[in-house]
Amino acid sequence: MLTVTGLSAGYGLITVLNNVALTVREGTVTTLLGSNGAGKSTLMRALSGLIHAKSGTILLEGQDITAAASHDRVDAGLVLVPEGRLIFPTMNVEHNLRLGAISERARGEAMQRIEGVYQRFPRLRERRGQLAGTMSGGEQQMLAVGRGLMGNPKLLLLDEPTLGLAPIMVKRIFETIDELRRDGFTILLAEQNAHKATEIADYAYVLDHGHIALEGTGEALLGSEEVRQIYLGLNAAL
Ligand code: ATP
Repeated sequence: MLTVTGLSAGYGLITVLNNVALTVREGTVTTLLGSNGAGKSTLMRALSGLIHAKSGTILLEGQDITAAASHDRVDAGLVLVPEGRLIFPTMNVEHNLRLGAISERARGEAMQRIEGVYQRFPRLRERRGQLAGTMSGGEQQMLAVGRGLMGNPKLLLLDEPTLGLAPIMVKRIFETIDELRRDGFTILLAEQNAHKATEIADYAYVLDHGHIALEGTGEALLGSEEVRQIYLGLNAAL
């Protein structure tokens, strides 16, 4: 689904990502792990076209999108659910969802798609008229994922969807990711919650100071004591 090679990107003169290579296979959950400031969000921004690649190539289903505008990437099926949710707080739930159907592919089927989102997240149907900014953090995250689904994605980029959520909501978000995979979506998930993220991952990459330090199946990474301690911050008891 996604093949990235030699990607470097950053902000102005600052280079954050150095020669990043990764692959996301269709129908899988691929996880991007890394501590604060490792460059996870920067990579998500570069993939979705919010910042430009300084070098390297991004292929989506074999098509070179390295220089494509953000909206063209959305049209091609690559949709970002950004860190911090970034919903529109003074608009109601349904209005936020409608704004997710911006691509031409998605617009024609917006009503059908809203129904699909409501079936997946019944809480959003209950709260369809509520101002989004008055919802709980977990509900706002569901809304952000729902808005992403309105874009009719093939590849969904989820940037730290569990950040700041209560444990019960973290569990719910991971269940949702599992359900989305079962329904055929392909997901690239950036997470600091290394244990859960590695458990759910078909394949995982560890980003360290802007480069890929390590990669492997979730099982392989969790199986190595050195990896657990140095890169995942997990002690032997976990
Ligand atoms: P976190 O989990 O804390 O969000 P992250 O792995 O997502 O961390 P990034 O947000 O990608 O990390 O940040 C990587 C580096 O890029 C950091 O050194 C950060 O200060 C820098 N950075 C991020 N955004 C900008 C920006 N808009 N302008 C300049 N530097 C930035």
